[in-house]
Amino acid sequence: MTQPIRSTCPYCGTGCGVLLTPTENGLEVKGDPDHPANYGRLCSKGSALGETVGLGGRLLAPQVHGQESDWDTALQLVADKFAASIRDHGPDSVAFYLSGQLLTEDYYLANKLIKGYMGTANVDTNSRLCMASTVAGHKRAFGTDTVPQTYEDIESADLVVLVGSNLAWCHPVLYQRLIAAKAERGTKIVVIDPRRTATCDGADLHLPLEAGSDVALFNHLLAQIYEQGAVDAEFLAHVNGFDAALAAAFNSDLSVTKLDPDLVRQFCNLFLRTEKTVTIFSQGVNQSSAGADKVNAILNCHLATGRIGKPGCGPLSVTGQPNAMGGREVGGLANMLACHLDIENAQHRDAVQGFWQSPCMPQAAGLKAVDMFRAVGDGRIKALWIIHTNPAVSMPDASAVRDAIAGCDFVVVSDVTGQTDTARLADVLLPASAWAEKSGTVTNTDRTISRQRAVLPEPGFTRPDWAQLAEVGRRMGWEEAFTYASEADVFREYAALSAISGDLGKDFDISGLATLSDEAYDDLSPTRWPIADHKQGGRFFADGQFFHADGKAKMLAVTHRPPVARTGPRYPFRLNTGRVRDQWHTMTRTARSPRLSAHLAEPFVEINPTDARQLEIKANDLVQLKSPQGSAVMRARITDAVQTGALFAPIHWTGETAPAARICDTVAGEVDPVSGQPESKASVVSATRF
Ligand code: SF4
Repeated sequence: MTQPIRSTCPYCGTGCGVLLTPTENGLEVKGDPDHPANYGRLCSKGSALGETVGLGGRLLAPQVHGQESDWDTALQLVADKFAASIRDHGPDSVAFYLSGQLLTEDYYLANKLIKGYMGTANVDTNSRLCMASTVAGHKRAFGTDTVPQTYEDIESADLVVLVGSNLAWCHPVLYQRLIAAKAERGTKIVVIDPRRTATCDGADLHLPLEAGSDVALFNHLLAQIYEQGAVDAEFLAHVNGFDAALAAAFNSDLSVTKLDPDLVRQFCNLFLRTEKTVTIFSQGVNQSSAGADKVNAILNCHLATGRIGKPGCGPLSVTGQPNAMGGREVGGLANMLACHLDIENAQHRDAVQGFWQSPCMPQAAGLKAVDMFRAVGDGRIKALWIIHTNPAVSMPDASAVRDAIAGCDFVVVSDVTGQTDTARLADVLLPASAWAEKSGTVTNTDRTISRQRAVLPEPGFTRPDWAQLAEVGRRMGWEEAFTYASEADVFREYAALSAISGDLGKDFDISGLATLSDEAYDDLSPTRWPIADHKQGGRFFADGQFFHADGKAKMLAVTHRPPVARTGPRYPFRLNTGRVRDQWHTMTRTARSPRLSAHLAEPFVEINPTDARQLEIKANDLVQLKSPQGSAVMRARITDAVQTGALFAPIHWTGETAPAARICDTVAGEVDPVSGQPESKASVVSATRF
């Protein structure tokens, strides 16, 4: 009997291990009982993976201007166009837009090529829409983008606070682990979310706060921590900024949360009396014009109580995508360098450039996602390479982004299908290997590096992304720097580079993996960093050592700021967007499974019964949402899960599956001034029966 191959699920940041066995009809998928993320569990999406690997709709050969072509022609055209743009208009006239779906090896090479060789930091990723606010918050508090906690901490906590996280639908296996822990040890669960989600079913307390008021709530908690004597004075020796943060907390106005004071009291009492508290936060925190401040308001409470880096005790951001963490580690954002080094730091830039022996290195951060597509739209960016993502429907103000891409001089799209809204706008389409055909590594939410392995043959003329990027690098004249025999070669170089991070006093050092043989790389079992001499390291921050220059953490003085867009007579509703349980992103893969599509078959908008009555909207009526950016049409679901004045709509349906229901056409492009992350959960719209 064929032995199953171990790999990793390609969906959420939980990073579950899977056992894959090719069958006559496709692929059998089971949970890997030995993977530390899931110990054999899978959610509905993971267990339906086998239904999604068929070749229908696959892009199997390069295309140039809509005509089938060959790799030589297509890649030479890409190299020539990028070289010409850099020559004629400077390095900042080109850009890459990447994805948390990329493998670490792909992500690393894309960053090396554009930053070290093309000479621009105009490289950003759909992770900007996902967790950039957490990156900014971590860096401000800790000096690095370090996730302190692990999944085991969820199971050893006595209280788990979920902020802006529908864990039950968006990280289902983590939710299963949490509910199992609750059954075993009575873990208390608090959900802080404007909307009553499936996650609330397992909660002891739900705080339906006003959208965007998280800073006011956590400032209140910090003031209570001080007033009720719960500050850890000994731990504060490792923390700067306590007095300023506390002063801001006392100046904060809890009433903006519109929460029942008794609910707030219950929450504060639980937090204050429970040493082993883990706070999990996700997109409800991140996707906000005050996202970084929300993250720091949460971290402040953990730093003030010394509850960080200890078993069952600390803050844990959960990432949306399978390799959002790997993207952060390779420097996949426009304001980062590889291995958690800073692009604004000359010593860091010199060290990375020295390692690469590269001809150039941008001296400042590049354009973040929203600004990048604005630069595409106004013609400053003339050559754009989009890899494994669909910004024409997933970016805020998506119709403007579509227009920008359509008007760009030269657009390359690498993807597994040519049938996305973005792919249709490409001058050159490059067929990429898909999950289960490609090989490399990903890092999940708790810093565990896992292998994705190839079990299916690469169909048609598809190629892995790292090989496409390396070939363009060679064709642009950097033969030596971009010659790799395999993805293992790329990984070894990246791991060797990470020694610099340790040398410069930063956190991301996996250099213990730099000498892996090809066989050892193939066999690599899930490995949580930091790693020295092949050994997995201990906990971060348990010793009170942080990564700011003085070794201390920093508490930030943060003040509540409401969402940028204001409701009013013309746009009276606050629109929240998010995921549903059984779909993923723009449904390129999950829509292939009838089982998954049966869960929620159509795009919908949730409306409170009181609002529905006033608007004379009944269940299943078609509803048109209009915002200053655009409009969308979907079916009404009447539910008190959303508050009056609030709406919720899923992000998944696109031009392919339901062109009128592209919700991101209605989302404003307002961003957090610190993180650049768009405020995807607080646009303003009108709603009428269609
Ligand atoms: Fe995949 Fe996430 Fe489900 Fe695990 S929880 S099987 S990683 S989608």
